[in-house]
Amino acid sequence: MDIVLTGTGSPLPDADRAGPSTLVKGGDTHLLVDAGRGVVMRMAGAGSLPMFLGAVLVTHLHSDHVCDLNDVVTTHWVMSQGNATLPIYGPVGTAQFVERQLHALEPDIGYRIEHHDALTAGPQVEVTELEAGDSLTVGDVTVTTGATDHAPVRPTIGFRIEHEGSTAALVGDTLPCVGVDELAAGVDAYVQTVIRRDLVELSANEMFLDILDYHSGVVDAAQTAARVGAGRLVLTHMVPAPTPDQYPEWQARAAEHFDGEIIIGDDLTTITI
Ligand SMILES: [Zn+2]
Ligand SMILES: [Zn+2]
Repeated sequence: MDIVLTGTGSPLPDADRAGPSTLVKGGDTHLLVDAGRGVVMRMAGAGSLPMFLGAVLVTHLHSDHVCDLNDVVTTHWVMSQGNATLPIYGPVGTAQFVERQLHALEPDIGYRIEHHDALTAGPQVEVTELEAGDSLTVGDVTVTTGATDHAPVRPTIGFRIEHEGSTAALVGDTLPCVGVDELAAGVDAYVQTVIRRDLVELSANEMFLDILDYHSGVVDAAQTAARVGAGRLVLTHMVPAPTPDQYPEWQARAAEHFDGEIIIGDDLTTITI
């Protein structure tokens, strides 16, 4: 199974980091977890396209994680010439979110149907809302859902993905919690969105300081990785985003608590498990 970090950025615009998203390839089955800024461009860089997706999995409806879902939907629709259905799974609220996106796309959908004889209807999407404990199978990949803690964002979910004995946990934005521990128990790769608490705390900006109470810090993520016995810790969605010369410092901080491999994600970093 390959885990491709298609977007390692955060809400803060970054020329080198697309918004949060991760592509998981379990054999020929491609799953996209979240769909942040620039996701379709990075999917192309990862050798995938929306029409190859077995499913889109959404952790939560924060804009940085879903702002380019409309591009996934439209590109899937046009490139499959309207002949395929895109399955989308996410927490309660996802169906309404997708419906509203389709509503916003109505002019474009109308133009394309009018212009192309091949297109006779709008995008076909099949949205399934998940709750903690739900599981699903896509191809020969299984996905289990667990509750995460990103309050006041509710509900939020994370995913444990398994393929041919390899396991990964992609849990999205969350504080350490029981749900994350369950999803990440014994996984080969635990992918965690993180902030550097010590650096964020230096800010005088109150809105920026607000992010402290609903994200995992690097130390939190490392402690979780050690507690659950993860094989590797993969850091993504880093705030503030480090430059490569700062990676060793980030890794050293995590290594004080976790003695497995620690990977600092760049866009298109690929982890094979
Ligand atoms: Zn979030
Ligand atoms: Zn986020």
